[in-house]
Amino acid sequence: DNRKKTVKDYIRTIVDFPHEGIMFRDVTTLFADARGFRICIDQLLHPYAGERIDKVVGLEARGFIIGGAIAHQLSVGFVPIRKKGKLPGATLTQAYTLEYGEAVMEVHDDAIQPGEKVLVVDDLLATGGTCEAGIRLIERMGGDIVGCAFIIDLPDLGGRRKLEALGMDVHVLCE
Ligand code: IMP
Repeated sequence: DNRKKTVKDYIRTIVDFPHEGIMFRDVTTLFADARGFRICIDQLLHPYAGERIDKVVGLEARGFIIGGAIAHQLSVGFVPIRKKGKLPGATLTQAYTLEYGEAVMEVHDDAIQPGEKVLVVDDLLATGGTCEAGIRLIERMGGDIVGCAFIIDLPDLGGRRKLEALGMDVHVLCE
């Protein structure tokens, strides 16, 4: 079989992780492969060729891995959005709802300047709640979001529609 592997071919599914009934989409096998990681970063960036991007924002934790590579490729800065309590400086916080309960995301309050063009990245889009919290934090700082890019979209969970309803341009590599 001489067919070149696609991004999707490098992603592994782990059944019943982190609990029974969940099919966990594991991108570590994509990141661990030299060609897999290269084509993943290239394809995430593809729609933004020629567009101004001033900052790349990565959502904890796998968004840091791809966000760092993308920021380096673009020669721009990288900004982490983290779960509450991990960032050392003064932060803005944003609560969002999970399937059961609530979570809080945080960003350093001086990480993005008003008018900066921002690309948001993460490994996987499910309900869109995590990314929506990130979008709100970026917009509270006056950032202008160019797009939200993900390796995987789980289309049944409606995240893409949620983000598009917020006016976002959503880019995904596979479903
Ligand atoms: P959402 O907020 O419902 O869109 O969930 C997306 C967040 O949960 C992202 O930060 C993902 O990294 C994480 N996530 C949810 N399901 C999976 C999975 O199957 N594999 C990897 N990450 C996942």
